[in-house]
Amino acid sequence: MELIFKVYRHDPTAGTKPALESYPVSLPDGATVLDGLLQIRDRHDGGLAFRAACGRGFCGECTLRINRSGKLACITRVAQVAKDGEVTVEPVRNITVLKDLVYDVDELLWQKIAWVEPWLRPATAQPDGGYVIPDAELEPIRKAMSCYYCGLCDEGCSVIPFDRRFSGPAALTKAFRVVFDPRDGAARERLKRLGEPRGMWDCVHCYEANEHCPRGIDPTDRIFDLRDKAVELGVKSGTANPQVARHYDSFAASVRQSGWLDEGRLALETWGLGRLGELLPMAWRALRRGKLPVPYLHRKRPGAEWIRRIFDKVEKRS
Ligand code: SF4
Repeated sequence: MELIFKVYRHDPTAGTKPALESYPVSLPDGATVLDGLLQIRDRHDGGLAFRAACGRGFCGECTLRINRSGKLACITRVAQVAKDGEVTVEPVRNITVLKDLVYDVDELLWQKIAWVEPWLRPATAQPDGGYVIPDAELEPIRKAMSCYYCGLCDEGCSVIPFDRRFSGPAALTKAFRVVFDPRDGAARERLKRLGEPRGMWDCVHCYEANEHCPRGIDPTDRIFDLRDKAVELGVKSGTANPQVARHYDSFAASVRQSGWLDEGRLALETWGLGRLGELLPMAWRALRRGKLPVPYLHRKRPGAEWIRRIFDKVEKRS
């Protein structure tokens, strides 16, 4: 197979601008994008920098953007991704590039994972003979334990392009793994921390993380699990963002009372009268488009009574 690889080249220390360089490659059927990069390094430029380790999709080292989509280079077959005989290879987005396809993984992953304190904090001293955990108790976290920190979920995340400080789905998956570990005794403190700005409530549930995860961990759902656990333990927000808890309570109260969301009330109760001024420009724009919901003038939906009963049932059960 004769192809052109367009590869992102950049050496920040040389002061040059980033550019896509084209290289002809000749690969057998079934070759991967990593095979192509190795060939370029062998035949065209020994200075091309990229990361790779296991070559089998186990280690997550070769996460790259291939034809504008996050993938592992070692298991992505060129035949599947080539378009018009071309394959474009770039580093992941929203990250500091160190050289060519090598980017700062510390910034992408490790600092964020450290923030979620990815170690167990057992409630009791380890018993003689160690902790014996029945397999069934570990079952809910088994999938999350198989995360190999490839960062593909962060690459696909919709929030990180707007706020690089967001802890992101990979770190929150790690948080899920320790919060739900039966040996851990610090769930409440952890969830309080995860409820602070840049934590679990900043996820906009676009489900891109689920789409991108090659391990089928469904990181978006794991973030929901963390939120549900936080609500169950009465930790609806951190200390720096009490509006999260108010938003949650107002949302639930509105749906419970009327069967649907009173958006005007939600805005008022979330932000409070003190920050009403900040909402005025948005309210003015909504008014001009005939979309300004008037708080509390909100009719009940047909069937609202049934929705209220669902709330009652759930509350009774919990
Ligand atoms: S959750 Fe999935 S996509 Fe995210 S880092 Fe782990 S294995 Fe990669």
